[in-house]
Amino acid sequence: MSIKVPSQLIIIILMLVYSASTLQAQTTAIYTDPRASVEERIEDLLSRMTLDEKIGQMTQLNVDMINTRPGNYPILDHERTRKIIRTHQIGSFLNGFAVSPEEWFEFTYHLQRINLEESRLGIPILFGIDHIHGASYLKDATIFPHALNLSNTFDTDFARQTGLVTALESAALGHNWNFAPVLDIGRDPRWPRLYETFGEDPLISSRMGAAYIRGLQNDGHVGPYRMAATAKHFLGYSTPVTGWDRSPALIPMQNLHEYHRPSFQAAVDAGVMSVMVNSGEVNSVPVHASYELLTTLLRNQMGFDGVILTDWADIIKLTAYDRIGYQQQHYHRIAMDEKEATKLAILAGIDMNMTPMSVNFIQYMQELVGEGHITEERIDASVRRILRMKFKLGLFEQPLPTLDYRHLVGHADHQQMALQAARESIVVLENKNNILPLSQQAQTILLVGYKAHSRLALNGGWTMEWQGGSESDYPESMPTIYTAMKQAFPAANIVFVDSVGAAGSVQRRQFDDAARHADIIFSVVGEMPYTEFFGDITDLTMDPIEIEVLRAVQSTGKKHGIILVQGRPRVIPADIAEIADVVIFAGLPGFEGGTAVAEIISGAVNPSGRLGFTYPRYPSHFTTYDHKPTDRVTALWHFGHGLSYTSFQYDGLRLNMDNVTPDGEILAEVTVTNTGLVDGRHAVLWFLTQESGRITRPNRKLAHFEKALIPAGVSK
Ligand code: BGC
Repeated sequence: MSIKVPSQLIIIILMLVYSASTLQAQTTAIYTDPRASVEERIEDLLSRMTLDEKIGQMTQLNVDMINTRPGNYPILDHERTRKIIRTHQIGSFLNGFAVSPEEWFEFTYHLQRINLEESRLGIPILFGIDHIHGASYLKDATIFPHALNLSNTFDTDFARQTGLVTALESAALGHNWNFAPVLDIGRDPRWPRLYETFGEDPLISSRMGAAYIRGLQNDGHVGPYRMAATAKHFLGYSTPVTGWDRSPALIPMQNLHEYHRPSFQAAVDAGVMSVMVNSGEVNSVPVHASYELLTTLLRNQMGFDGVILTDWADIIKLTAYDRIGYQQQHYHRIAMDEKEATKLAILAGIDMNMTPMSVNFIQYMQELVGEGHITEERIDASVRRILRMKFKLGLFEQPLPTLDYRHLVGHADHQQMALQAARESIVVLENKNNILPLSQQAQTILLVGYKAHSRLALNGGWTMEWQGGSESDYPESMPTIYTAMKQAFPAANIVFVDSVGAAGSVQRRQFDDAARHADIIFSVVGEMPYTEFFGDITDLTMDPIEIEVLRAVQSTGKKHGIILVQGRPRVIPADIAEIADVVIFAGLPGFEGGTAVAEIISGAVNPSGRLGFTYPRYPSHFTTYDHKPTDRVTALWHFGHGLSYTSFQYDGLRLNMDNVTPDGEILAEVTVTNTGLVDGRHAVLWFLTQESGRITRPNRKLAHFEKALIPAGVSK
């Protein structure tokens, strides 16, 4: 039997078959198929990419390259964005300004959309940002205490919550890559980024860091919108010889492995997706060019297979000159030019270059491959890691940001978590004659120093802006210490004077007058926000103006409390510290910090913070708690010090053996009784001592910590 088919129909059928098959070819490209494994998708995509596209993926640019108003406010320049993406197929952008969720959405949505339209293979962009204590580049977000404060809580759950809330509040808005946690170890109080660390102890830093990473990268909570964490700044960034940011460090290998490495190892073990490199040099080798640290140690020994990202413009800093040919004083000078620097960095192990204001890197990479200095296999290895991160984040399935989670930004539940973290991160250092908690009986409480009524001061750097922005950037709803004290003491007369003025001035007379009527005076002193080299100092002693405030207050003879709002332990002259009735380390407690301070003063909260670092007594002698037996500690307040409004008694220490081998385990138990009248949270710190060693060993080292609520009269 034969059927007659009109010729037009044959053409239509053929066209249908053709278009169905091309459609199938497109839709079944393995890399676009979520049912294929991540590894299959990577290999498929890689096989379709040109060399230029691969190098584009290894490039990270600052938003100012595509911004209509550079350095100011994110308004995407659509034309420039199209051009840059079409020409270079850029893999990542970074940086931000504190704007509303709607404004961020507008920016990242169009950036990603243009990228999907203009890039040949539609590889989504990674957008990196420094949301280091909450989504701090986002107006109205929940802002947690900085990491140094979190170390004082001795409760890793606060680090987990900080990570989780950061992701919940910003991942959906297209912030899919966070440059936190800082896992540098805070062992030098001069270093201006101390407050970004989890303090001086490697165990605390490891546990806090791992908890933060699990919280932030936990896709179970954030649904289709995920965020990658960055362990930074690998390795040895925090102990420069002079104490200044990005200046040379000399670190013996033993010390590097014993103190600097563990927190990064913990991050790798927790599955951190990226690592950012230390901008400084260690033992005369800039880390960006250190094969030994980046490949031998981080990749091969520590087992990290995620993305290694440079820090800001650090490849060019391996040379002597900036891009316009000016000789730069603080550049490393180990390469003759940027091209050689690029080669050194890539061969050392860098996957992505935060260039961030130039695309020269792309050209140098092309030349280096053409000349045979860098192989395409080497490039493929980096691109695989970058693509793996993008697949794991689910970006191919959900590339475009949404406002779906808008209602979570600054959510009351999140603020409650930040408040509890702030409460437990504040440390009561002195409380003579149990002056605290202050009674609610009507009284006059005088607060002295402008930090008592400053939002900026409570937040430090990396909030709203790199250096903390200005007072007007902060929401009026955020309590200051002064406004929170009014809330906490409704029947009291809370008076605020912003300075004591010079001796004999009108301001001084006003202060004297206010002081005369006060029952107790709190001076709020410390530091205003900074980060990186903006915070370099030549003397750890507290600023002379702040000392002047303390002396003026103490000369009144009134009961006196000092509230320290600062990112590192500024040294207080011993005579002042010793006669203060109360000293409270508030640190940088974030948006809820004012409330937390006032609640501790009023007794609504029983303080439970213990120092995660050693508070030095002198500006030129500082040691850590885990010093060598031959060293001596001159601390004003020791690591682990922190007062409570109740007392705890330890009984019945039980060990299942007396000695433990280096990799062994020991079971230790102790009964802790709350012997006071109020409930209290308390952290038990366990230390181990190595009796002898082939090299000298620390006096003791923190081996475990655990915190619990112990009601009055109860034993646990
Ligand atoms: C800092 C990093 C930060 C990066 C991007 C650098 O100057 O050292 O910690 O992540 O800038 O903002």
